[in-house]
Amino acid sequence: MHIVTTIAGSDSGGGAGIQADLKTFQELEVFGTSVITALTAQNTTGVTGVFPIDISFVEKQFQALVEDFPIAAMKTGMLYSSGIIQAIARMIGELNIPLIVDPVMIAKGGESLLQQEAIEALCSSLLPLATIVTPNIPEAEALTGRTIRHFEDMKQVAQSFLQLGVQCVIVKGGHLAEPLYAIDYVFFKNGQSFSMQSPRIQTKNTHGTGCTFSAALTAFLGRGLAMEEAIIEAKKFIQLAIMHDLAIGNGHGPTNHFA
Ligand code: PLP
Repeated sequence: MHIVTTIAGSDSGGGAGIQADLKTFQELEVFGTSVITALTAQNTTGVTGVFPIDISFVEKQFQALVEDFPIAAMKTGMLYSSGIIQAIARMIGELNIPLIVDPVMIAKGGESLLQQEAIEALCSSLLPLATIVTPNIPEAEALTGRTIRHFEDMKQVAQSFLQLGVQCVIVKGGHLAEPLYAIDYVFFKNGQSFSMQSPRIQTKNTHGTGCTFSAALTAFLGRGLAMEEAIIEAKKFIQLAIMHDLAIGNGHGPTNHFA
C-alpha cells in the first residue's frame, strides 16, 4: 500500500481541504495521512471562521508521520501563515519525495486562506522544493504579479515559477473566459509543455475542485506513475468528479470524490 500525506486545512463542510484529499486518496487506493494546518468552520455557502493550528503542533503531526511511515508523495493545500509555511518547508526539505504544492489562497466566497504576508514565504521557501505547482489563474496572477490573458502570458507566468526551482507548473484554465472548454497548460523545467482540454461542465457545484485535483495527482505520483501520466490521470479524475457533482447544501456543492 502506498502512503501519501496531505498538509492542508480542514473543511468542516467536507468538500475541500483535508476531507476532500482523504476521500480522493481512498478512492484512488492509496493510504492517506494528514497534517492539519488550520481548522475552518465552513459549509457550501462559505467560510465563517479560520483557526490556525500552533506551528509547534503542525510540526508534531509531521514528525509523527515521517517517524513511522515511508511516505511516497506529499501535497500541500491551505497553509495560512508564513510561520506554518517555513516550518513545513524546513521539514519537507529533509525528505526526498514528490511534493505537489496547490497554492490555495482564497475560497470561492472570497475568504482568505493564505495571509497576504505569507505569499513571500510560499515563493521563497516552499515553491523551490515543489515537484509540481498547480495554480489556477487568479493564484498564478497573485503569485507572479502578471496578468494572464493569452497563452503568451501563461508561458511567462510558468517561467516565473520554473525560475523559483519548481520542476513542473500546471496552470489550470478553468477561470479563463473560454465557454466550451476547460484547458490546463503544463510546463516542464526542460522546456517541454502540453495542454489538456476537456469540455466545460456547467455546474455551480465545484467546491474543492482544486484540492481534489492536486490530491489525485499526489495519489498517482505516490503510486509511482511518471509525471506526465499522473497529470493526465488526475485531469481525467477531476473531470469525472465535476461531472458527478453533488447538489448538496445551499451554496456551491462539492465535486464527487467517488466518481
Ligand atoms: N477550504 C479549505 C480548507 C481549502 O483547503 C480550500 C481549498 O482550496 C477551500 C476551502 C477552497 O474551496 P473552494 O473550492 O470552494 O474555493
